[in-house]
Amino acid sequence: MQEAMINKAKQLLADGTVDRVIGWKRGEFVYDITPAVFETVEELEANFVYDDFTSANVSKYLVKESRKEGRILAFLKPCDTYSFNQLIKEHRVVRENVYIIGIPGGPKLDIEKIKAKGITGILGVKNENYTLEIDTVYGKENMPFYEAILDKCSSCKSKKHVIYDELMGEEGDVLDSNRFDMVEKLENMTAQERFNFWREQLSKCIRCNACRNVCPACTCEKCVFDNPDSGIENKAPSDSFEENMFHIIRAFHVAGRCTDCGECSRVCPQNIPLHLLNRKFIKDINAFYGEYQAGEDTVSLAPLNEYKQDDCETGIVHERGVE
Ligand code: SF4
Ligand code: SF4
Ligand code: SF4
Repeated sequence: MQEAMINKAKQLLADGTVDRVIGWKRGEFVYDITPAVFETVEELEANFVYDDFTSANVSKYLVKESRKEGRILAFLKPCDTYSFNQLIKEHRVVRENVYIIGIPGGPKLDIEKIKAKGITGILGVKNENYTLEIDTVYGKENMPFYEAILDKCSSCKSKKHVIYDELMGEEGDVLDSNRFDMVEKLENMTAQERFNFWREQLSKCIRCNACRNVCPACTCEKCVFDNPDSGIENKAPSDSFEENMFHIIRAFHVAGRCTDCGECSRVCPQNIPLHLLNRKFIKDINAFYGEYQAGEDTVSLAPLNEYKQDDCETGIVHERGVE
């Protein structure tokens, strides 16, 4: 796939369809694959990477890239296309300045799951018929591919691209996903158990802001958390109230706009399952206002942006004080 993508990018650069390409390049480690912009064939040939660790969604980078002169080629996985559509809907990207090639999605690998097996000093990872052959400084290791996939891929909601100019590979379908299973488990806990669960998770937060910075729904020019008068600007939370509030405020800000791309959980250095908080909002919005998938199209109004006389009044759907 990587070679085909490089060849396609070279062709589109050569015939003038695009002026640059957003893709990925390798960082310090083999599994450290990071978004990058390429302007020449030489750069593409030297550094463009697409492999089992290439999971970063480049949609958010297009907020800035699509406002520059010329046209940029973006390779989007199915989940990424929902983010891009949502950004179009919010007038955050210039659609005509992006040439989209839909590429097949994952599953993609989660290096943390490999390291959790006690495998360290990793030099290379090869997928041989869904067995990972891992080369380390201490010797060779093996593990099943499906034990190392990202959580966002194990509960994938769609293999279908909702926007593209061109497709590489077969188009997929919207899937019957199990993505609300864990949310239901949390709902079935008592209020105290649920509170304990979230306190345990959120107390690990170091306020690195990676979840906010990677989130395609968090594109405000001036984020509320960057306000120097807020008292919580870019610092480690000083108490549990701040820890909770950062996440609760962010979850409310992206409610109805979160496409469930899973990037927030993927980048969290503390492995906090942030997607569960956002999925709870998605599940509730579906229950209160009817099924809605953010990013499915570029025109429909989000339930929270549209007032209907028969909207349910969520304040009286559940009796207060009743679990
Ligand atoms: S990425 Fe994780 S540690 Fe960083 S601010 Fe978000 S929740 Fe906290
Ligand atoms: S909140 Fe998380 S899952 Fe939702 S759009 Fe942002 S990064 Fe994606
Ligand atoms: S946390 Fe809220 S204010 Fe900050 S970028 Fe996200 S949506 Fe915007």
